[in-house]
Amino acid sequence: MGENKLAPHVEDVARALGSKLSEEEIESELKEYIEVYKLTIPMAKKTMVKKHGGDASAFTTGFQRKLAELRPNEPNVDFVARVVTANDKTIEAKGEKRRIMYGLLGDDTTTLPYTVWEPEGMQLEKGDVVSVKGAYTREYRGRVEVHFGNRVTVRREDPATIDASDVAQGPPKVVTINQIRDSMGYIEVKARVLSVEPKDVTVQGEEKTIYTGTMADQTGRIQFTAWSDFHLKPGELVKISKATAKSWRSIPQVNFDDRAELLRVKEKFPTAEELSRTSIVPISDVAQRGGAADVSVRGTIVEVRDGSGLIMRCQECKRALQKGTCKVHGRVEGYPDLRIKAVIDDGTGSVSTVFGREITEKLMGFTLDECMDKARQAMNFDAVKDSLDEALLFRIVDIGGNVTADAYGLSMIAKEAELVTPDSKEDIETLLVDLEETK
Ligand SMILES: [Zn+2]
Repeated sequence: MGENKLAPHVEDVARALGSKLSEEEIESELKEYIEVYKLTIPMAKKTMVKKHGGDASAFTTGFQRKLAELRPNEPNVDFVARVVTANDKTIEAKGEKRRIMYGLLGDDTTTLPYTVWEPEGMQLEKGDVVSVKGAYTREYRGRVEVHFGNRVTVRREDPATIDASDVAQGPPKVVTINQIRDSMGYIEVKARVLSVEPKDVTVQGEEKTIYTGTMADQTGRIQFTAWSDFHLKPGELVKISKATAKSWRSIPQVNFDDRAELLRVKEKFPTAEELSRTSIVPISDVAQRGGAADVSVRGTIVEVRDGSGLIMRCQECKRALQKGTCKVHGRVEGYPDLRIKAVIDDGTGSVSTVFGREITEKLMGFTLDECMDKARQAMNFDAVKDSLDEALLFRIVDIGGNVTADAYGLSMIAKEAELVTPDSKEDIETLLVDLEETK
């Protein structure tokens, strides 16, 4: 590092520190940070000013910008930020599966979501302070997002440069339950508590009581975890500010602790009973949310997949047997079971689902024993699959349960299912005839 190259920065620091240090002292200390501690120049300057108690905003030779200054669609941005959250996700792009990282970055002005498109060699960890060059920005739902593309360089800095407590959270984003997504920073949500129960957990070796439950507004229901005791009771209408959202098995949940502000609200709002009643949501909504807890969708059964019907399961691990063979335990006796693997489509999207024995019996109108008889008579296990196709294909069904999302799309473990129309195939045939006749 040439002397004259450093000169403007020495002046900068001198300005920020007033007469606390001589220029010689500043220069040698800056050099030490840069050469010995391998800090970038801006970091070295900032660290020095912080250490000696000056005003870093006096810097004129700035390289980097604050996160709050970033605008959408900037092709090339440099900044220093703390990694507030770091998550992994596998996505499918152009038919190939790839791993990306996403989360929140923060500095003392704001927090912004980020995505790292090629995390190999650029693994970010929560708590890292990084100086980033050559990132770009986009806008999503009115918020600037930072993207790490293939031109970006990332350098780790001393984590003390931006302490966790220095990270500005900004005003919480006011959201309804269907808008809640993973890692969106502080949120404010108004909802009615439907259920709550204490749970004893161990957090970092410490016994702790947390409170988990469900809350709801007109747009949906969501699981929550309160990490401190707010004396929540079922039926209460609350406004929670400075909560955060985190996904668990791809379903967003609300978390809050004693940093959150919780107000009991008295106003006109649907009752717990009204909110508990199932309301049907479009599948595209669930897809946008990246999964959801306890939702109901109404759609047409467009596919009854192979592996549906009468199956045999391994006594030991309950896996479905393939030709009398368990993947883990080899050739085993097995016991019979019923299931349906189906695809439901509502015109806005589709969801794969698996119905267990109870629901399968109800939808099909046959018990497991009756199915066994049927299979024995036909001497064919697939006989049941055929009658499933017959009974269910193109029928309209309401299903409820938790929906998760992954690279293959949405899947629901159905807790309940009900056929809506007596037999929509007849309806469809009638409709087709009608169409023929009106031609
Ligand atoms: Zn097994």
